[in-house]
Amino acid sequence: MSDAQSIESGPGLDVLELIHESIFVRDLNGRIRYWNQACVALYGWPAEQALGKLAHELLGSQHADGIEALEAQVNSLGRWDGELTRQRANGQTLLIDARWSLHKNAQGDALGIVEIGRDISARKAIEHSLAESEYRYRNLFQAMAASFWELDFTPIGTMVRQLFAAGVSDLAQHFADHPQLVREMMLRTRVLDVNEQTVRLFGRGDKTELLQSVEPFWPSASTEVFAHSIVAAVSRQLNYSKETRLRTIDGREFDALFTASFPPENMKKGILMVGVIDLSERNQAFAALERMQAELMHAARVSMLGELTASIAHEINQPLAAIATNGEAGLRWLNRPLPNTEEVRTLTERMVADARRAADIITRIRSMARHQSPQRAPQVLNNVVKEAVQFLRHELQAQGVEVRLKLTPNLPKVQADRTLLQQVIVNLLVNAMQAMAESEQRQITLSTRAHDSGGIELGVEDSGPGIAEENLGKLFDSFFTTKASGMGMGLPICRTIVESLGGSITAANSDGGGARFVVHLS
Ligand code: ADP
Repeated sequence: MSDAQSIESGPGLDVLELIHESIFVRDLNGRIRYWNQACVALYGWPAEQALGKLAHELLGSQHADGIEALEAQVNSLGRWDGELTRQRANGQTLLIDARWSLHKNAQGDALGIVEIGRDISARKAIEHSLAESEYRYRNLFQAMAASFWELDFTPIGTMVRQLFAAGVSDLAQHFADHPQLVREMMLRTRVLDVNEQTVRLFGRGDKTELLQSVEPFWPSASTEVFAHSIVAAVSRQLNYSKETRLRTIDGREFDALFTASFPPENMKKGILMVGVIDLSERNQAFAALERMQAELMHAARVSMLGELTASIAHEINQPLAAIATNGEAGLRWLNRPLPNTEEVRTLTERMVADARRAADIITRIRSMARHQSPQRAPQVLNNVVKEAVQFLRHELQAQGVEVRLKLTPNLPKVQADRTLLQQVIVNLLVNAMQAMAESEQRQITLSTRAHDSGGIELGVEDSGPGIAEENLGKLFDSFFTTKASGMGMGLPICRTIVESLGGSITAANSDGGGARFVVHLS
């Protein structure tokens, strides 16, 4: 005890009060004999409560090797340093970087152990989170479905600086004029690291064969994209993304989305991060989808024509019947003792006109039924509306539907395929007719007007029962139908057509209670 006291009151210990590091002394029994101000601040125990207590008990010291082993070490070697977990008075866990040294008197007898400690909890937490984010980044780098590349960009930086020094001001133009220079830059850009997806996409199973120049992976047709990415990096954009063709180590070319990112910290280090997504499957899927949509549109048109057979038959029958009647009349005039050639001429002219009408109708139906790719041209929307109504004239009459046209004259033309636009309007009219089958009053109002926000609006409003609130959001979903024999493809196809023209279509209920469809075309 007296030995310990001699440490406690020994010369020089007062100086320790001035030190920010926490310093305490424990005797050979482990009891605290000295406790500086920094200890009070760090551990939350005032000196009067700490002095005399068993240090490791009061502070809850813990170490993976066990405290006894550390004590044994300091006793035999005279010192120990390392990291300890401890508890503050309020229960908070601390990580302490501690240095222990065994104090001896002049005779070499051990007196006690001095500990100098530093709280490194905060630093550890930062280190931990850094390690974690590095780990997360590495994990991401490896696990992403995309192919990732780390490239050494320094040679390009040097070359670009030389170009500027030589007076080149328009880098993009210079690259366009000297594609060979861009190839040279590719040759000098080396791959530092790639993830597994890159090995799968570009390689043959061996990552190291990819850690070379990037040049072989760029077909000459894609040189321009590489050049643009350099211009983007130099002009301090944060990233650059472009669809292009890239090449595997075996020489197979494929469609890829190339993205280079240039975060300033990486650029300072000369590191360029590049991501590549294989688009070949997506492009194939898109092509299949387009083909499928075209098939569907075609099927819907044909099925609509099927529904309209009565109407079509009637349309063609009319001129045919007129031709027959006029032909018979003409024959009668010819068979007279004195043939009236004037009458025959008039009748023949009518026959020609009727035959033309029939041919027109057939052409219209054939163009509806034919599988042809859309042909865009400027269209007068009002005329297309009138044609669609004309097409359904017989059907509308048979169902006792009154059609009102509120068409604003002289609207700007819309760029569209005429047949497809007709199909949209015919679809909306057929739906309106079907919706009003049970209604007393059957009225369809077609309106066109210029929209305040630009573009043209076509409204198709009926006096039917309207659309149930819960169905409003589903009308344009494929196969949604409330009809016993419905296909649920009419409106989705209308939407596909309208959107392919850069427009939109919406459904709502009108003030009168019927349905109102609005097609907005730009
Ligand atoms: P289908 O006519 O084969 O049902 P659509 O896609 O053309 O397929 O229409 C989907 C559904 O939208 C219809 O079943 C109907 O419930 C509703 N609908 C479409 N037009 C109208 C309308 N004018 N009034 C009320 N409901 C309508």
